[in-house]
Order: sequence, then C-alpha cells, then structure tokens
Amino acid sequence: MIDRKRLIIAGIVAALFIVALARTLIGPSPRGIQTDTRLLMGTLVTISVWGVEKGRAQPAMNAAFEEMARIEARMSRFVATSEVASLNAAERGTWQPLSEELERVMTLGMEIDGLSGGAFDIGLGPLSDLWGFSREPPPETPPEPRDIRKWLEFRSARTGPGIEISEHRLRLANASVGLDLGGIAKGYAVDRAMEILEREGVAHALINAGGDMRIAGSKGGKPWHIGLRDPRQADGVVAVMDLKGSVAISTSGDYERFFIHQGVRHHHILDPATGHSARSGLMSVSIQAPGSFLADALSTALFVLGETKGLALLEKFPNSAALLIREDGSRIQTPGFIAVAPP
Ligand code: ADP
Ligand code: MG
Repeated sequence: MIDRKRLIIAGIVAALFIVALARTLIGPSPRGIQTDTRLLMGTLVTISVWGVEKGRAQPAMNAAFEEMARIEARMSRFVATSEVASLNAAERGTWQPLSEELERVMTLGMEIDGLSGGAFDIGLGPLSDLWGFSREPPPETPPEPRDIRKWLEFRSARTGPGIEISEHRLRLANASVGLDLGGIAKGYAVDRAMEILEREGVAHALINAGGDMRIAGSKGGKPWHIGLRDPRQADGVVAVMDLKGSVAISTSGDYERFFIHQGVRHHHILDPATGHSARSGLMSVSIQAPGSFLADALSTALFVLGETKGLALLEKFPNSAALLIREDGSRIQTPGFIAVAPP
C-alpha cells in the first residue's frame, strides 16, 4: 500500500518536473520586451525585441551581437588582425587585395566623401591618431601644432585621390592617408544586425549602438519611444520620437568624446580642412534615414559641414531628415523629422 502511494507521488512529481522542463525549453507563447546589452565597437549596444518566444529571442540577439563583433574584427583600425589594420600597415602606393564587404562599405563612404567636398573623409586615420580620442586614458591636450601643420602639408601635397579602389584592390596614396571607418562602421553593423534579427524571425526590434539606432515594427502596435540626448546635459533629452516601421536615427555630437583645454572644447569629429575638431556652429546632428549606414555617415558629414552646406547635402537624400542643434541651443528641424520637444 505504502509503495503504491509512493509510486503515485513519484509519478506526480515526475509529471510536474516534465511540465516545468517543457516550459523552460519551449517557453510560454509570445512575451513582451526582451533586452540584452553588450560592449561592442567601443560602445554599449542594446538590443530589444518584442513578441518573440522566450527560447528564440536570446539566440536571435546573440546572432545579431556576433554579427556586429565580426564586423568590428574586420573594420576596426584598433584590432591588429583586422583587414583595415593590415591595409593601414601596407606600404603606401602599393595595391592591396580588398574583401568584397569592405569594398562595399568603403565605396559608399567615398561617395559621401565626394558629395561632402571632402568634409567626410574615411582616410583621415593619421589625423585621428594625432588627436588620439580613442586612447585610454583619453587625451587632455591637443597635439603639437607643427604635427597638425605637417599632416595638412602632406595631405595637400597629394596629386591624386588619397584612396583608390579598383578591381577589388585598394591603394593608399601616401602616409597622410590611413583608413578610419569610425564614422560609418557602426551604422553598417547596426543594419547587418537588424538583418540577422529578421532572418531569425524577429519582426519587432530596437537596436541602440551609442549614437546609432534602428527600429523595426512596433511594441504590440505601440511605437518605439526614443529620446535624443541633450548635448550639454547627459541625463537631459532634447527631443522624443515615437516611431514604428523601419527607421534609422543616428546622432553625431561634440560631447561623445571630448576634452576642454584652455577653455576650448576639442572633440572627436575632425575637419580635414583645418586638422582640428569641426567647428561649424553645431553641437549635435541627428539624421533620420531608411538605414543606419546612411544615417551614420550623414550625421558625421553634416556635423563637419554645418548648417548651410550640410542641409544642401541632405537634399540629395530624399528619404532623409535632420535635427540640428546649434551651439546656442537653438534648433533646425527639417520637415520629415518625426520628433517633438520633450514635455
Ligand atoms: P560616434 O562614433 O561617436 O557615434 P560619429 O558617427 O560622428 O560618432 O563618428 C565619429 C568618428 O568618425 C570619429 O571617432 C572618427 O573615427 C571618425 N571621423 C572623425 N572625423 C571624421 C570625418 N571628418 N570624416 C569621416 N570620419 C570621421
Ligand atoms: Mg557617424
């Protein structure tokens, strides 16, 4: 009798265990928001997905993070084994093989370079190295004026283009040129990560990689809520956006990496024409575009160009819009930009 009772209890316990196991493996049907964060490409990257079964959300987010890590390993000039680092190490004037992926990214970068009259320049690596904004610890003083002068002279001594691409090969003109994809690689990586999420069956997501954001779908019919940072107050917001569907927003500002030396703010967006931080009268530029790659490139380009030339460049991209914040705090918002001032 006792044995029978024991058997029944053991049976019930086993059944409960199986149900619990099934719940963890399969998960309940669609859940709300699930979020994960990783440190990638020098910034915190957060992915949020909505309406995905528990067992599928984490693998999908992992695959998206892995894709971004793969791109960083290829395109970061700080990773010694990256394709970009090896191209930078090659002897100037020699043709080097170029992967199909890097060729695509660079070709688009060079298109923005051409359209911006050289204000956006993915070949300014040696100038970025002089300033060293990515160093740890970050710099506190500007480089020697004569080093900047030397770079400017060397740059203007170039007779042809700094970067040439032909038949899947690349040639850098002289030592004034080195690849720095910091102004576009993150945007490209965000686009690729969103593609991976879609491939994994995620239709509703938000990716936030520092200043580069991209959304897909909605939160159960409700828009994704995005706040754009106040350039002078880390916890303040200058605009809020409620977005649905497929949209990218990228922001470039003089507050991401900067130091103040003798009362002057020096920051990581450089003007190749002066060799110094861009001083175009703007504190921040946010671009809304169909993809993060374009939004990222345009936000950096417009920051360097400033209001008048920047808005003229933007006109060449009919599906893009901008929010510019001037140094006095006033703003310019082009008609397509979907943002309202915070309450
Ligand atoms: P963040 O990387 O902070 O999101 P941006 O997208 O504006 O900001 O990119 C800034 C980065 O772009 C710099 O750290 C540097 O690597 C690179 N960069 C700086 N100046 C230029 C420029 N004039 N043209 C192209 N890239 C630039
Ligand atoms: Mg950018």
